[in-house]
Amino acid sequence: MVILGTWHGNRITISVRERERSLTVSTIWEGHLLTAAYEGGGRPRTFITQGTVYRRSLDGRMLAKWREGGRRQRRWLSQDEALEIEARGRALLQAVYADIQSGALRGNAELPPLGHTLFRRAIAWDEEKSRADANRYRQIYLPIGILPPDQYSAIVLQATLGCSFNTCTFCTFYRDRPFRIKSPEEFRQHAEAVKDFIGEGIYLRQGIFLGDANALVIPMKRLVPIMEIANEVFPSPWGSIGRKSDRAAVHLKTHTGAWGGIYAFLDGFSGEKKSPDDYAKLAALGLKRVYIGMESGHAPLLHFLHKPGEPEDVLHTVKAMKAGGVAVGVIVLIGAGGHFYAKAHVRDTIALINQMPLDSRDIIYFSELVVTEDMPYARDAAAADLKPLTHEECVEQERAIRAGLRFGESKPLISRYDIREFVY
Ligand code: SF4
Repeated sequence: MVILGTWHGNRITISVRERERSLTVSTIWEGHLLTAAYEGGGRPRTFITQGTVYRRSLDGRMLAKWREGGRRQRRWLSQDEALEIEARGRALLQAVYADIQSGALRGNAELPPLGHTLFRRAIAWDEEKSRADANRYRQIYLPIGILPPDQYSAIVLQATLGCSFNTCTFCTFYRDRPFRIKSPEEFRQHAEAVKDFIGEGIYLRQGIFLGDANALVIPMKRLVPIMEIANEVFPSPWGSIGRKSDRAAVHLKTHTGAWGGIYAFLDGFSGEKKSPDDYAKLAALGLKRVYIGMESGHAPLLHFLHKPGEPEDVLHTVKAMKAGGVAVGVIVLIGAGGHFYAKAHVRDTIALINQMPLDSRDIIYFSELVVTEDMPYARDAAAADLKPLTHEECVEQERAIRAGLRFGESKPLISRYDIREFVY
């Protein structure tokens, strides 16, 4: 329900979404348009003001994103800055709600009972609560390195910790932890704790992402119970009616399970190779799409990156998944290997993707290489005297690969993947 009105001479919009149990208020506050959005439990989610979007992650940090000189810019705020933004949103809500209660603010409709609940919860989310929530998050999760962009609204369940390889020189996400698979009991405890922590925020989430980096490397006999537990702990929060997508799934006589389905990463190169039958079993348990860091179709570049395996391994894995009814997300690393590898990277990546049986359920992501000083890649690139691609050259490399891709009638989605934009 959207309530429109006038408040202190300015337009105000109050959006109360019953299904998502969310509250959004947008009006002029302290001289600027401020939009403040909250989950059902009162947890702040997004603030937008003066051309900057502030996204709060579940660990209490806040990413600010804006455009400058035609380029996207971003910065993680300090905790004090993040709490200051939260306080600004809270002050807005307090003032608006006081005027709703006194009758000074009247919109084109009455605030529904859920709206009152959501206002009260969001106002009660003070600094102490915000800090306590972030601490609780850290007791439940190890830091979540990355998710594919279409999974930012998933609920992450860490079935494994770390990456079974941890060798890729351009990746530092999991250097802080050895790889291990959780036992079913430990996983159930974790899943229950996540559910309790997410609370009413569950209505804004879509499906389960099995973390960490390489969850699908788990052997079938251990993976099946883990997926069964995920389905048990996370049935559709809307009950048997479910979302539109659940109803479509029922219509197609497919598994609904964890309501939006289950998603995960796989390195795609090695580990236990699963067959199409294995993937069909996992699809029946709700597995919808697996994201594979293919990076490149050029074998010497993969070796330079210390990526385990060969390009053909990725092709084999993609074919097995597709034959088993599981969609794929193929991730290509743009700019990898600089100018030295550029031509062969484009040529062999096109050739490899063109052999994949991709369709409209699949996604191809182009992820621009982000090099930081602590990466072994920076050291190796300097030793090999590699000239890096500029951002403009990376855009051109992506364009060249896209231009060479050939699909049938049913085309995969092709999109950008900027790891710096990730917020969970
Ligand atoms: S397999 Fe993936 S998560 Fe593991 S080190 Fe390589 S890029 Fe990082």
